[in-house]
Amino acid sequence: MFASYWIRQRDYLLKISRALTAQLDLDTVLAEVLKAAMEMLGGQAALIAIREPDGRFTIRASRGFPSRLQEYFSLLLVDIPNQVDPFLFHIPDLEAKLAEVALRTGLPFSQVIALPMRIGPELIGVLYVIRAYGAAFTADDRQVLASFADQAAIAVHNAQLYQRLAQEKRRLDAILESSADGVMILDPGQRITVFNRALAEMTGWSAAEAIGRHHDEVIQWARRDTEMDLSRATAGGWPLAQSRGKTVLYVEGDLRRRTGGVLSVGITYAPLLDREGKLVNIIANVRDITRFREADRLKSTFVSVVSHELKTPVATILGYAETLARPDAQWDTETVRELAGVIQEEARRLDRLITDLLDASRIQARALPLRQEEVDLEVLARRVVQRFQPQTDRHDIAVRFPPDFPTVQGDPMRLEQVLNNLVSNAIKYSPDGGRIRIRGEVRPEEVVVSVSDEGIGIPATEQGRIFDPFYRVDEAPVRQAGGVGLGLYLARAIVEAHGGRIWVESEPGKGATFSFSLPRPRRDRLPAPFHPD
Ligand code: ADP
Repeated sequence: MFASYWIRQRDYLLKISRALTAQLDLDTVLAEVLKAAMEMLGGQAALIAIREPDGRFTIRASRGFPSRLQEYFSLLLVDIPNQVDPFLFHIPDLEAKLAEVALRTGLPFSQVIALPMRIGPELIGVLYVIRAYGAAFTADDRQVLASFADQAAIAVHNAQLYQRLAQEKRRLDAILESSADGVMILDPGQRITVFNRALAEMTGWSAAEAIGRHHDEVIQWARRDTEMDLSRATAGGWPLAQSRGKTVLYVEGDLRRRTGGVLSVGITYAPLLDREGKLVNIIANVRDITRFREADRLKSTFVSVVSHELKTPVATILGYAETLARPDAQWDTETVRELAGVIQEEARRLDRLITDLLDASRIQARALPLRQEEVDLEVLARRVVQRFQPQTDRHDIAVRFPPDFPTVQGDPMRLEQVLNNLVSNAIKYSPDGGRIRIRGEVRPEEVVVSVSDEGIGIPATEQGRIFDPFYRVDEAPVRQAGGVGLGLYLARAIVEAHGGRIWVESEPGKGATFSFSLPRPRRDRLPAPFHPD
């Protein structure tokens, strides 16, 4: 009879342990442990205290009494020894503590047994079983519960690890998703297993569409700067060539987007190897390098512009000055004046160009100082006409502003520079002449000034780019006109610094109209027009 009791106990224990170790949800594991412990020892209540990361114990699960009373039972946790041997484990005055709990809660509990839950030498929690009536716990009870507590400890520990793992994974997923760089993780067969949001935006593939596909289906190069790409590299033995120090692979070029167009990117592939050196994953980090490319383009354009546009006038000035300075020549006043005139003209051009270059670099450093004065745009427009009209007899420049045109706040020199650029372009890009109109228009919240010409116009595809620094339309009449492509860039920066906008409308061959708006001072804005419904 005694033997059969033990066999029953053992079978029960085995069954429960199996059920427990298969379970990974911590709350379920705890509830099962409590239920089994109570059944085994004929208890009416049970609780589990778990050691928190800071070393303190807290009640994580209980059974047999309302959970709102749980905090009274914390008294049973006082003075838990750091002892894992179940026969030496002893919480001082445990019976007295239970009596106190019973008194405070009105629950009829009278006997308690507590056993350590251990993983090796480490105490991870304490399992309590409580009886309301019947005999005190015996050494046999202690024996039974001790082996069960060990099994339960393993199950709890597993569930805790799993919980931590799941938490880590969530954390990692959140980091990947919010990363501004594209990230993807490939399996050893180069199939995509992770594909973050930034990469979805870059490639035009959604994560759901990309995951499961082969890398080469999604990453397609329109152009590559590096000779290597992933498939060539792996064919050549990467990543196992890492022993020679080539752990990561870098590929740069233009990626073909699924939604059309290309994107300049640099991809770093890093292999993840297991302890035996076997490939587990390839982690790819994709960076949008459009800005670097743009900066590169600007730098090289800058160098070519500077070398051409600065050198030409300098060469002219030098040539003419040398001619004038020749000791063996006598020049009449007329010739001297003429040569000096050319030198003057070229020096002015040089000065304008240097000023533009300095302005452009100030804009890029966001350091363009602006004055704040009352500005009469019509006065500025008339001054610009006075400057340009005498220089051309093919163009007829007219100004028309309504009489109620208000003043705006701003920097008069900078705003005049905008008008200067627009009018000089209007002349430059209408080689056959024509009418140039400068108009003012008053709107409720802003004023708009436009400069229109009847010149070569601008193709629709170029209209978005002509405000970029150093950008010029690549057409013969533009090339002939000369210039560096900074005028509109500066004009836009000045207008935007005033809180306005600048735009162009044009029909190629018929002319172009450049307009810019500036906000009106609040005090004299017109009420919005009333629209009865
Ligand atoms: P630049 O005149 O020195 O080339 P801008 O920045 O002033 O530089 O102009 C950029 C480009 O925009 C010009 O090269 C030209 O192709 C185009 N553009 C500007 N204004 C006009 C215009 N009024 N008509 C036609 N094309 C224009």
